[in-house]
Amino acid sequence: MDFFSDLKQVFFSSIIKLLGGTMNIEHIKGIGEKTLEHFYKYNIYTLEDLLTFYPYRYQILEPSSLENTEKDITITINATVADPGKVSFIRKNFNTYRFKVESYGTIFTVVIFNRAFLKPHITIGKEITLIGKYDAQKKIFTANDLKLQKLIGTKIIPVYHTIKGIKNSSLEKIMNEALKESKSVADYVPKKYNEKYHLINKEEALTYLHTPKNTQEIQRGKQKLIYEELFVFMFKIQYLKSLKNKEVGIKKEVPHEEIEKFIDQIPFTLTLDQQKAIHEGLEDLTSSKRMNRLLLGDVGSGKTIVATVLMVANFLAGYQSAFMAPTEILAIQHLKSIRNLVKDTNIHVECLVGSMSKKEKENVLTNMAKGKIDILIGTHAILNEKLRFQKLGFIVTDEQHRFGVNQRDILMQKGSLPDMLFMSATPIPRTYALTIYGDMDTSIIKQKPSGRKEIITKVLKEKDLKEVLFKVLEVIKKNQQVYVVAPMIEENEDTDLKDVYLLKEKFDLAFHNKIPIGILHGKLKKAEKEEVMNDFKLGRTKILISTTVVEVGVDVKEATVMIIFNADRFGLATLHQLRGRVGRNDLQSYCYLICNEEKERLKVLEESNDGFYISEKDFEFRGEGDLFGVRQSGDMTFKIANLKRDYNILLKAREDVKEFIKEKEYLEDKKYQEIVDKLDFTN
Ligand code: ADP
Ligand code: MG
Repeated sequence: MDFFSDLKQVFFSSIIKLLGGTMNIEHIKGIGEKTLEHFYKYNIYTLEDLLTFYPYRYQILEPSSLENTEKDITITINATVADPGKVSFIRKNFNTYRFKVESYGTIFTVVIFNRAFLKPHITIGKEITLIGKYDAQKKIFTANDLKLQKLIGTKIIPVYHTIKGIKNSSLEKIMNEALKESKSVADYVPKKYNEKYHLINKEEALTYLHTPKNTQEIQRGKQKLIYEELFVFMFKIQYLKSLKNKEVGIKKEVPHEEIEKFIDQIPFTLTLDQQKAIHEGLEDLTSSKRMNRLLLGDVGSGKTIVATVLMVANFLAGYQSAFMAPTEILAIQHLKSIRNLVKDTNIHVECLVGSMSKKEKENVLTNMAKGKIDILIGTHAILNEKLRFQKLGFIVTDEQHRFGVNQRDILMQKGSLPDMLFMSATPIPRTYALTIYGDMDTSIIKQKPSGRKEIITKVLKEKDLKEVLFKVLEVIKKNQQVYVVAPMIEENEDTDLKDVYLLKEKFDLAFHNKIPIGILHGKLKKAEKEEVMNDFKLGRTKILISTTVVEVGVDVKEATVMIIFNADRFGLATLHQLRGRVGRNDLQSYCYLICNEEKERLKVLEESNDGFYISEKDFEFRGEGDLFGVRQSGDMTFKIANLKRDYNILLKAREDVKEFIKEKEYLEDKKYQEIVDKLDFTN
């Protein structure tokens, strides 16, 4: 154990002691110092932590007879020891124990591995329970578990996720002890809703889950605890939302005619969804409530122009805007396109990124403070403490899930409650957006700009690679470009992940080293990455082989082929994001998903180019899992609820929580105040 984790534990024990009372788990029978340390490692500090460490499944033991059993079905039988047999030590950490028992009038041999320690307990006449498989022909019972007593009736054994150092059976005992104090664990479901849904109380639910007598008890217990967990989850979200709704922003005077004029000169026609999003954003800017809006739009749906129109409006109202992009490449790309969009106005757009010289940066800082710059685009270098805005009124963050919440927070403090627009290309099922971004208003762009061709997508096996290589040659001849994505850079011995270097070798071989290929992965230095990216943007390299770092919204218009290896490693939403790197103008584009196993879910991508539809499907296939490749915060993990399975309960909980917050009862209740106190307000 290293010094720090030691220290952490010392602190935790003392903090918990300070908190006092039954929060502590030290005193629970069966928890010694060592056990305590093991629990701490799994973030189990309090009685509540312990009792909400739920079994993830149950083993149901029901004694059967030997008749009609098949040799590959696991059964449970009662037996009596006939001969204590002997242990053979095969090699270190491996032994087999064979002994004889009698059951239902049959005598047979039991084989069990690595249980030499049981030998002293296996005495003639001892009644035991065996769990395993019986081969009637050979008269051998291969046991995977064994209990040193006879089983009477049905027994349900809770099975917990592994806590290193603590056996499942010890956990069972500890839970039994802890349950004696379960009264002191808070029940977060208000009485009203306990009654409304006929839920049992918390104490009972915990008892049922850890020591069920039958499966109905498990059901009853779960029903309560799932509802409770979702209630608390929605409580946090709705509470944050209620705070944000109270925030007063700057009520801006936007001259509507001038905005109309600006929109009219945009070189293309805005889609209806873009118009609607602009309209919603303008409402926010001109109202006294602070804008806290999420703009969700599939890759290529045209979010930048929406943000630009709103920044122009903010400028016309007399304020500065800041636009944050997750990488320098993107910031510079945005600088160019936004400058181009406002070229006929007197709006001054500048950029601030890490790679600029000191002098250049200082220039920007001075001009910013003087109010000479109207729109500042940059990476998180914008967060530079020295940066002072003269009159910051509006902040846009692109690919918002890439930013840490803290970074957003720092920026917010630079202006006096500026309006905030968060943009994300991660198509989240609408239903799910409600939970993850529940404390924001949302605008959604579903339509693609007209004229875009669907990306032709094919799921192929590696042996069909020839077809793909021909396509690669074909497009390169037309001076178009190709992305190749491989899941990981370092090969794991036991996986067959294609690493990027291996792929480069293969491509070089196939094309006789005639085609310039770039390589991009997370382990390259920042400057190296940018150089590689730049070479590709400028067409110096024709193929870019990369790990998923390419995912972020890079815009290389000439790229028309996307090849993704080990495609089944990715979620549909991620694949769709990746695919969105091609098809960024009116050229026909292609996406090849290479994977050697037949994967039904990948077919969804062949059928559809609609990010929202795809994310709904992904949700169906995988549950919330790592749907977005982004976990917003620790609050997104559930101990017992499952957003997909329990979606209807979530909706109910949401309504109940709204009502509950409105009635303000929580203000007087310590346990809700504790939840509120622990909330991360930057979120
Ligand atoms: P994303 O939503 O992925 O950030 P962008 O804002 O980068 O998408 O837009 C992708 C491309 O589509 C840009 O080149 C942009 O100029 C173009 N575009 C945006 N809106 C329209 C539209 N209504 N009609 C035609 N092209 C559009
Ligand atoms: Mg974008």
